[in-house]
Amino acid sequence: MIGWQQVWIPKDSIIFVQSHVPEVMELHTILSMVTPLGKLTALPTFKEKVRDNPDNVNYGLVGYPVLMSADILLYKADTVPVGTDQIPHLEFAREVVRSFNHHFQTDILVEPQAKVTEIPKVLGIDGVRKMSKSLNNHIELAATPEETEKRVMKMMTDPQRIKRTDPGNPDICNVYTLHKIFSSSGEVEEINRDCRVAEIGCVDCKRKLAANLNKHLEPFRAKRAELEKDPDMVRDILLDGAKRARVIASETMEEVRAAIGFFRS
Ligand code: SF4
Repeated sequence: MIGWQQVWIPKDSIIFVQSHVPEVMELHTILSMVTPLGKLTALPTFKEKVRDNPDNVNYGLVGYPVLMSADILLYKADTVPVGTDQIPHLEFAREVVRSFNHHFQTDILVEPQAKVTEIPKVLGIDGVRKMSKSLNNHIELAATPEETEKRVMKMMTDPQRIKRTDPGNPDICNVYTLHKIFSSSGEVEEINRDCRVAEIGCVDCKRKLAANLNKHLEPFRAKRAELEKDPDMVRDILLDGAKRARVIASETMEEVRAAIGFFRS
C-alpha cells in the first residue's frame, strides 16, 4: 500500500508558511539597517498603498519591500517569477543585496533575476487595477462555477461599447485579455474578429470566458476539495516544508551574522 506521504509530500518544491520560518524576520531587521527610507517611499507600490490607506500609513507599509527582499534573499533565490508590477520590488531587492554586500564587504547575498511570467499583468474585474483579493476585484480560484460566472459577468468591458450593436475594441477589454489565457486560439481569433463588427455581444463573450475558466480550474478545484478533506495532511506538508526551508534559512543567517560581526553564545 502506498502511504499518503509518498504520494503527497512535494519533493522538488518546498511549500511552507512564511511565519513558520522566523529567520525571515531577523533578516528583515538586518536588511532594514542598510535600506535608505527614501528608496522605500519612492516605490510606486508604496505610493499606491498610501493612497489606499491614507489614515494608516505605518511601518508595515513602508517596510514591506524589505520583508519581500528578505523572503527572497534568505533562500538565495537566483530567479524569481514575477508580474510586471513586481519588477520594481525585485530591482529593489537587488539594490538591497548590493548595499548589504558592499557595506559588509561580502558576497554572501545573491542578486535575484526577474523571470517575467507569460501573462505579465492580470487586471481585476474592474479592468483598471491588478487583480487582488484586497481590492475585491478578483476571481476566487476556489469559488464554485456559479460564483465564478457571476464575477465574470460583472467584468468591465470596452467602455465605448454601450449598445449590443456598437462595434467593440478587444485590445482594451480585459475580458479579451483573459480569453487569451483561458480560451483556445480559434475562439480568441473569433472573438477578436466578431467583437470589432458587433457580431458577438459582451454577455455571450463573458459566458464563453466563464465556461472556459471553469473548465480550466476544474482539476485544481477537485484537488483542493480532496486536500480539504484531510487538514492534518495539509498541516504535515506545511510543517515538513518549514523544516526543510529552515535548514536553508539557518545556513544563510549563520553567514549573515558572521558577515556583520554578530556572534552567538
Ligand atoms: S465582445 Fe468581448 S472582447 Fe468585445 S468588448 Fe465585449 S467583452 Fe470585450
